[in-house]
Amino acid sequence: MNSVFLGPPGAGKGTQASALSAEFKIPHISTGDILREEIKAGTELGKLARSYIDDGNLVPDRVAVDIIKNRLEKDDAKNGYILDGFPRTVPQAEMFQKILEDMGSRLDLVIYLEASEEVLVERLGGRRVCRDCGKIFHLVNMPPKTEGVCDLCGGELERRPDDQPEAIRHRFRVYQDKTSDLINWYERRGLLKRVPGDIPWEETYEMLRETFAGDDGSRTGRD
Ligand code: ADP
Ligand code: ZN
Repeated sequence: MNSVFLGPPGAGKGTQASALSAEFKIPHISTGDILREEIKAGTELGKLARSYIDDGNLVPDRVAVDIIKNRLEKDDAKNGYILDGFPRTVPQAEMFQKILEDMGSRLDLVIYLEASEEVLVERLGGRRVCRDCGKIFHLVNMPPKTEGVCDLCGGELERRPDDQPEAIRHRFRVYQDKTSDLINWYERRGLLKRVPGDIPWEETYEMLRETFAGDDGSRTGRD
């Protein structure tokens, strides 16, 4: 199943998508993660991206689209994928549509993770991320076994620069301005499924699991 996760910052896209990816053995493709890796590796793309990301702005549409185009050409994306953080603007969605057509492929489902701004601000403030493997924790809701240390790899946990209060507020404005239009855009195309993101994350996960498990792969032949 080819899917997209949509929702405001902090709705749990990354956490849910990475758990689904492990269970259903399809890649979790996060443009945010890819960009942060480029920054860490000090590449040209990373240098360009950094100036946008740390302040909570979007990188240019063309940059995001090129990243996705290259990533979807890899073999592991042939049997489905979860896109997290892409598309983020209507022009990105339009270019993505074109790429899919050229590949003879299409999108099956868009999950919209809904949550109130209050819950989101609280979550992002407490979010900590492993600097080595990217695993996401939360000081209150999902604390690591040892403070400041990743359960999986022992890496150091850190606060993302764009999870500082000022950048968080800015990301919400960007989301309202640029990304929220995608909800209608995908709804009109009959692809949108709304899932609550402000309940305990295990409950959200259960709903998503059912949706993903219900897909027996026969969709393509059905219509
Ligand atoms: P979150 O969903 O918590 O806001 P992400 O990890 O998805 O965080 O993205 C972090 C940052 O990476 C964004 O604020 C933006 O600067 C950049 N980014 C990620 N995906 C895109 C995209 N599709 N288009 C433009 N910028 C992007
Ligand atoms: Zn780790």
